[in-house]
Amino acid sequence: MNWISKFIKPKIKSLFKKRSLKNEETLWTTCGCKNLIYKEDLKSNLNCCPKCGAHHKLSCKERFKIFFDNGEYETIDAPVPYDDPLNFVDNKKYTDRLKTARKLTQQDDAVSIATGKVQNIKVVVGAQDFRFIGGSFGAASGEAFIAGVQHSIENKMPFIFFSCSGGQRMMESSIALMQMSRTSLAVNELKKNKIPYIVVFTDPTTGGVTASWAMLGDILISEPKATIGFAGRRVIQNTVRETLPEEFQTAEYVKDHGGIDLVVERKYLNSTIGTLLSVLLKKTEIESKTETTNVVSIDKNLQSAS
Ligand SMILES: [Zn+2]
Repeated sequence: MNWISKFIKPKIKSLFKKRSLKNEETLWTTCGCKNLIYKEDLKSNLNCCPKCGAHHKLSCKERFKIFFDNGEYETIDAPVPYDDPLNFVDNKKYTDRLKTARKLTQQDDAVSIATGKVQNIKVVVGAQDFRFIGGSFGAASGEAFIAGVQHSIENKMPFIFFSCSGGQRMMESSIALMQMSRTSLAVNELKKNKIPYIVVFTDPTTGGVTASWAMLGDILISEPKATIGFAGRRVIQNTVRETLPEEFQTAEYVKDHGGIDLVVERKYLNSTIGTLLSVLLKKTEIESKTETTNVVSIDKNLQSAS
């Protein structure tokens, strides 16, 4: 790569060198703001649009590279359960969908778990790849989530999860729904062991994921403008028969209505979560020493309230 190919963008470069149309197309992408964006610019800006700031989706690997200190991490393997226990077929076989998704993402499932450091604090991090059947949450995702929680508890490391999902995997029906209670119980174990659990909502987080582990974090953070909800906007609008505000189900709207705690830009997630964890970890130490005093003071408050 010489200085021309490195610094001059393809449109200008084409003056120097003839390129095929196909090659040109793959170098540019579009954004919701309708601007044409050079893919390299998007990548160097943490996959956030340089024109409008929209946070584009990340693969699990990209997420880990951006989030962990110096982009260093190790993935944690999780058991992969039996594929397609219901022999599910809609307009395609579920096994074929799995095959395509695995080839595309190079992952066994939508969920990937890794361990590394954030602001020098050892943590376990989970992420979802939306390209894997809409980031849907099934039995394998549940196994990965629980493997992450177990690693957190055994090594006393905080657990952080980046949600990006349309909900439970309908091809696994009740087996997928069952993961809602399994993951909720796993989160409960984190809380029993006083392990901080932080959820970062990324666009979109909806359905059963919102209704289970994603909303159970000690601190709930979201990337800007992420869609956060349970049922879709149209379903709600047709049920309540009222016009919903434009910004309904956006991260900012959910935050203003008390659903989540913070909206943080991608570039500040490492530093913000690092700071929060340093506070939380100190707090956990103090809490365990003064547990009895806390109980008494809560009881007193209850008594005065009644
Ligand atoms: Zn944009």
